[in-house]
Formats: sequence, structure tokens, C-alpha cells
Amino acid sequence: MSTTTRAAVFSTPGAPLALEDLRLADPGPGEVLVRIHASGVCHSDLHVVDGGWPVDGPTVLGHEGAGVVERVGPGVGGLAVGDRVMLSWFAPCRACRRCSAGEAWLCEDTRALENVLPDGSSRLSRPDGTVVAPYLGLGTFSELVVAPRSAVVRAPDDVPFEVAALIGCAVTTGIGAVTNTAEVRPGRSAVVLGCGGVGLATVLGLALVGADPIVAVDLSDERLEVARSLGATVTLRGDDPDLAAHVQRATGGADFVFEAIGSGRTIESAIAMTGRGGAAVLVGMPGAGVQATFDPFVLADQGKRVLGCNYGSSVPDVDFPRIARLYATGRLPLDRLLGDRRPLDQVDGALADLQAAVGLRTVLVP
Ligand SMILES: [Zn+2]
Ligand SMILES: [Zn+2]
Repeated sequence: MSTTTRAAVFSTPGAPLALEDLRLADPGPGEVLVRIHASGVCHSDLHVVDGGWPVDGPTVLGHEGAGVVERVGPGVGGLAVGDRVMLSWFAPCRACRRCSAGEAWLCEDTRALENVLPDGSSRLSRPDGTVVAPYLGLGTFSELVVAPRSAVVRAPDDVPFEVAALIGCAVTTGIGAVTNTAEVRPGRSAVVLGCGGVGLATVLGLALVGADPIVAVDLSDERLEVARSLGATVTLRGDDPDLAAHVQRATGGADFVFEAIGSGRTIESAIAMTGRGGAAVLVGMPGAGVQATFDPFVLADQGKRVLGCNYGSSVPDVDFPRIARLYATGRLPLDRLLGDRRPLDQVDGALADLQAAVGLRTVLVP
């Protein structure tokens, strides 16, 4: 048995995504059919479209989604038809030693990064039988998604779908970078380089834990204004030739510098800006092959650390509900990260805005 879903399909870098009606097979054992109500447009989608990450087409992009359970496969527990859910793009295997140690973000056996379901297959195909891959095991630029149970987390009723979608990637990455990866304590100084979805979520996380000062850096005055409204106490333009000196003056040597772009040059700046005993936290995902250099003497001499951060070092089943509760109780104004809401057929425009660093997080509503 199968159903039909309209989805945005990637074929080759640089080409527009094509809206296609695909066949979607029923959810198998341990899988869940979800009707997507909102899907954020993230840099990790753009990396595929612009060729920064090599991915074979045809693939349905999108990995930051929320919706409603429409059907559950055999053996699925803890979820019922009609449940509102948030999706994780890193379905942990729940069996490897990392998962057993509560470090799902380091799962050694997830197949999500191969753009397949845990059994190595896809439920998506074209009418002619060509198999279509689900990006990061999800492919949320689609009306319907078959997701592994370990990628599906129930969402509270008082969290709108747009916000729930962002919790699935940008929000958890940014807030987790602060609370999990860096474990920032009150009064510590922090810099955020790049105020896209993840960078602004990082600012929110820093405000939540009481970091001070919070320095936000971006090339867009609009985004800097938003950063200030979310809790940044100092805003600086990334193209200011005296940026490093301004950061030094504001922080006296930053305890934490969060790089939320994934650019080699900005990573180098982040490490250089980090103060004695501080940490540069690499949150942005670099394109394939990006290199960065640093002076190892300075790193050793000044006791600096460089922390890698994937998905905010988060465990979806633990961190998603926690963040959703903080939103619902008014402690995290996540709706202020939201930009345009667009229908699925405007996905290319949304990706172009992301490339141009225009506006806030766009959410597609299939
Ligand atoms: Zn993402
Ligand atoms: Zn695992």
C-alpha cells in the first residue's frame, strides 16, 4: 500500500528544486507516517543545493519539520494517530555505546546521514519506480514523511507547528550549544558570529542562562536588531575592520565565542577572539573540504579550547520537550525567530533568501 505526497525534489546542484507527486509507501515496523504542517529552511538544505555537500539526487530536501501523526507502523509505542510531533534529523539507533551513554548526538549507527531510513531504504519513489531519498532520513519539504520512531518526539499542544519545526534543528542546535556543549554559566561573556537561525537561537540560549555581555556579530543590520531584541547587549557589524578590538573591549577576552556560520575564516576569527581559558564553539556546519588554521602555541599557552558542536549536543527525547516547555512558559520567545511563511512551491525563493542572508527563518507550510 502507498499514498501520494507532493514534495520538493533535489536533482543536481545549482538547479531549482522540482515539485513532484511521489509515491510514499506505508510506514514499516518502527516507522511513523507524519503529515507535515511546517518545515524550516536551513543552511544544511542550502549546502546540498549549492553543491557544498555532495548529495546524490533525486532527494527530497528538508529536515526541520513538525506535524501530526497520521499512521504508525507495527511495533511503534508511545505515539498515537493525531499526536502533534517534532522531528529530529538525527534518528539515533538507541543501541550503540554512545546512545547507551545518553549521548544520542554521537550515535555511531544512525543511517540518517546517508539519507536513508534505519533499514537502509527509502519509502519514496517516482511513479516510474525510481527510488527518491529522504534527506537526513526525513525529507520534510513534503506533505507527508515516513520517519523512524526515534526521530519523532511529541510536541505540547501550546507550541505552534512553526515553532515546533524550528526546535527540530536551528533552535535545539543554538540553545544546546550554550547549555549542553559549552555549559555557559551566568555572567560569562559570549560572542556569537553569525545571526541566522542558529546564531539567533544561540543568542536566546545565552540570554536564558544569563551570559553577559552577549555580543552579536552579523553583516545584516536587520538581524542585529533582532539579536538585540532577543538579548544581545552589544551588536557589531562583521565587516567592521576593528571587529576584534571591539570584541576585546566589550568582553575583556571572551569566555565563549560561538561560530554559527561554518566558514573557515570566521572559525579562525572565533579562535583568535576567544580569551584566556575560553572556548571557541563550532556550531555552524562547514561545507565539505573547508579548512581553518590556528596558532597552536597561543591555544596551548592561553589554555583555550575548541569545542565541536553537532545538533547542540542534544538528545531529542530530552532536549526537544525541555525547550518546548521553556517556550510555552514564556522563557524562550522562539516565535521571534520566525520570518516568512511560504507555500511549498516557493522553496527556491526561500533558499535564495537564505543564501543572500535576507530575513529571518523561513518556514514552508505544505
Ligand atoms: Zn538544519
Ligand atoms: Zn546509537
